[in-house]
Amino acid sequence: MNTESRSRVPAIEGWFTTGPSPRLCGTKCVECNNITFPPTEQFCANPACSGREFTEIELSPTGTVWSYTDAQYQPPPPYLFTDGTYEPFALAAVKLEAEQMIVLAQVAAGYGVQDLALGTEVELVVEPLYEIDEVEHLIYRWKPTKVGK
Ligand SMILES: [Zn+2]
Repeated sequence: MNTESRSRVPAIEGWFTTGPSPRLCGTKCVECNNITFPPTEQFCANPACSGREFTEIELSPTGTVWSYTDAQYQPPPPYLFTDGTYEPFALAAVKLEAEQMIVLAQVAAGYGVQDLALGTEVELVVEPLYEIDEVEHLIYRWKPTKVGK
């Protein structure tokens, strides 16, 4: 597979960085310090706050599994398939300690629920989600850090 000619773009613009140490992009309310992911430019998610000014921040790249499951059934449209087949994947809700928030994402390619338990340490990775016209569209995923792979 020739990856040199392929370009890579985020599948969702503005939600994560794609460098060697990818990070999720969040916002912090200037008024109450509430942290939001995905980032917002509208309203503070804290119901007790009327803040509308936010600072852009990068979230912790590691966390621990708070809950997990596997998606055995094909999601309804607009779920995107490029080759017509559906392969089940695992999902993890991960607690970020510093931010005290839970972020849901797919589990990294090659890993499944057999690699997860409550409290499993994971790190953020960015991987191809799908490819259209030789452009790889990337997504953030959680990768277990203490599994022998
Ligand atoms: Zn606020």
